[in-house]
Amino acid sequence: MIALNNHASGRHFLQIPGPSPVPDRILRAISMPTIDHRGPEFGALGTQVITGLQRIFQTQHPVVIYPASGTGAWEAALVNIASPGDAVLMYETGHFASLWQKMAVRLGLAPEFLALPGIDSITGLPRSWRHGVQADMIEKRLKEDTLHTIKAVCVVHNETSTGVTSDIAAVRRAIDAAKHPALLMVDTISGLASADYRHDEWGVDVTISGSQKGLMLPPGISFNAVSPKALEASKTAKLPKAFWAWDEIIEMNRTGYWPYTPNTNLLYGLSEALDMLLEQGLATVFARHQRWAQGVRAAVQAWGLEIQCADESVYSPVLTGIVTPQGIDADALRKSIHGRFDLSLGAGLGKVKGRMFRIGHLGDCNDLTLLAAISGVEMGLKLANVPLAESGVVTAMEYFAATSRV
Ligand code: PLP
Repeated sequence: MIALNNHASGRHFLQIPGPSPVPDRILRAISMPTIDHRGPEFGALGTQVITGLQRIFQTQHPVVIYPASGTGAWEAALVNIASPGDAVLMYETGHFASLWQKMAVRLGLAPEFLALPGIDSITGLPRSWRHGVQADMIEKRLKEDTLHTIKAVCVVHNETSTGVTSDIAAVRRAIDAAKHPALLMVDTISGLASADYRHDEWGVDVTISGSQKGLMLPPGISFNAVSPKALEASKTAKLPKAFWAWDEIIEMNRTGYWPYTPNTNLLYGLSEALDMLLEQGLATVFARHQRWAQGVRAAVQAWGLEIQCADESVYSPVLTGIVTPQGIDADALRKSIHGRFDLSLGAGLGKVKGRMFRIGHLGDCNDLTLLAAISGVEMGLKLANVPLAESGVVTAMEYFAATSRV
C-alpha cells in the first residue's frame, strides 16, 4: 500500500471543513464484514439508516442515499425536478454555490445567478462572498417573474468556502411572499448534523447533503431529502435521469433495499453515526459546534485578523474563514503549517484563493484538538512575520475554560 502514514508521530490534525475526522467508533463499524445487500439482514440496516436520517434532516418524507460524493447529490436534485432549458434562480454565496451554478449550465438549464454586488472595502474580496443569501433579492426577482418560469430557487445553507450560513426560513418566506410556485432546493452538505437544519419546518423541497462533514463519515455517500411537491415535480421533469431517479430508489427503500449495490460498509458507519448523534440529541450537537466556533473566532479576533464572514448573525458553526493580511499568501502559510506541524487547514477556493484559509470545527474534535489547531496557526502566523495583536491561543483557552462543563 502507498505510504500514507508518513507522519513522524502522533495523529495528523485534519482541521479542514470536511472530510472531518472520523471517530474510532465509526471506523470500527465500517470495518465489519460486508454482507449480502439482497440478503435478509440488509433490509433492517437499510430501514434503520433511512429512518435515522429522517430525524437528522427533520423530515417525515423520503431521504434518498446515493453511493456518490455531494456533487452527485447536487446533480440528482437538479435532474429529478427540471426539464431542459428550465430557469433556476441561484445565489452566489461562494465557491460551492458557483460550482452548483456551473453544473446547472452543463445540464442544459438556464440558471440566473444573483449576488450582492460590489467589492468589500476592508478585504478587497467580493461582498457576496462575505454575506449570506439576501432573501429580499430573491423575493424581488420572483415577484418580477409573473409568468412563473423559474422552476426552482437553489441556495447553499452553509457555504463551506467562506464560513457563512444562510437563513433558509427567510428564503422560504421570500418565496411565499412572492406567491411563487418555485421549488426550494438547499445544499446543506456541510451544515447537516452540525448546524440547525429543518427540512419540513422550513418548507424545503430538496435538501442535498453528504457524509463527510457533520455525519463524521468518510466521503462516499450523499443524500437528497425530498418533499411531496418535489416528488410530484419529478414525475413530469424531462431531463434524462436513470441512476439518480428518485422513484425506483424510494420504491425499493420501502423494504430497506436499493435497486443497485449500495455502499454497505459506509452504511454501517452511517448507522453508528446516527446512534452517536441521536444519543446526544441534535440540540447538544448544534450547541457544541456553536461553542467551538465561538472559541475559534475569539482566537482570530485576538490575533487582529479579519473573519471572512462579515455578518455576525450568519457566522458558520462549522468552520471559520480567516482573511490573511495583504501581502501574506494564505496558501504559502497553510503549506508551511502543514509541513512544520502536521496540521491541515482548508484552502481559499475560487475568488478567494490565496487570500484566506479555513479552520474546520466539526467532526471528531474537542476543545483540545481545536486548541492544538489554533496553536499551529498562531505559530505559523508568527513564522510568517504576521503581526498579531494578542495570543489567540490564550484567548481561546480562556474561552473554552470559562464555558467548559464538568
Ligand atoms: N457543496 C458544499 C457546500 C460543499 O462543501 C461541497 C464539498 O465540500 C460540495 C458541495 C461538493 O461535495 P463533494 O466534494 O462531496 O462532491
